[in-house]
Amino acid sequence: MPELPEVETIRRGIEPLVVNKVVDHVRIHNGSLRWPVPDLLIEALPGQKVHSVVRRSKYLLFTCDQGTLIVHLGMTGHLRLTSHTSQRRKHDHVEIVFTDGSALRYNDSRRFGAILWTESNPLQHVRLAGLGPEPFDPEFNAAYLYRLSRGRKVAVKPFLMNAHVVVGVGNIYASEALFSAGIAPVRPAGKASKAAYGRLVQSVTEILEEAIAAGGTTIRDFSDTEGRPGYFKQKLCVYGRAGQKCVSCGTLIKQIKLGQRSTFYCPVCQK
Ligand SMILES: [Zn+2]
Repeated sequence: MPELPEVETIRRGIEPLVVNKVVDHVRIHNGSLRWPVPDLLIEALPGQKVHSVVRRSKYLLFTCDQGTLIVHLGMTGHLRLTSHTSQRRKHDHVEIVFTDGSALRYNDSRRFGAILWTESNPLQHVRLAGLGPEPFDPEFNAAYLYRLSRGRKVAVKPFLMNAHVVVGVGNIYASEALFSAGIAPVRPAGKASKAAYGRLVQSVTEILEEAIAAGGTTIRDFSDTEGRPGYFKQKLCVYGRAGQKCVSCGTLIKQIKLGQRSTFYCPVCQK
């Protein structure tokens, strides 16, 4: 499943390929994605210019003249730009053809992704309105996490992975950020200090920035390729390292299940 850094990498790869292009027509070959692809796209999109591609959480927002196309890649979705005359591939479900003859194709074998349309503020769309701040937003800070967590008995790791708290902190990033901040993943969120949350905010942003930077090196060419960046080669300190020595103190890394998710931590470095 693409995580936030991969979606950001895809955004950076796709945006220059579609901005200032005008939609000629839309083809919906199979609109049964996670939610039905609205048929009105066929009527509404032609003639509209794409102004920007922005990201909110793991949604890509294609800003057009009269509204916004909201795309989520689900588990297996990807986008590629090709010629409208090139042969359709298996699982190419939706195609947006531009007036220059290029076509943006959405491919999704498992069809857990989504393509939606809104003519209102996309950030207020029902799928986006309840989301917490972006990890790079100044609103995501120690005071915010401290305030939000008071009285919460939930462990700090699932708290951090809750999209209502902050978006885009997946399982690997949560494990790594908690290690870097020296916080045990099982600690109740309500028991962590403001200083601990300050370290956590810094760790989360650093790890995601590093992942995006690594992703940047994988942007090859979204024209006619899979349109999917490779897995980022990041150095992992705890994730997937159960039974191996902690990089900091040499203690063996432990693995537990927490909120149904595999969780890795150093029992000495993380309190
Ligand atoms: Zn350690």
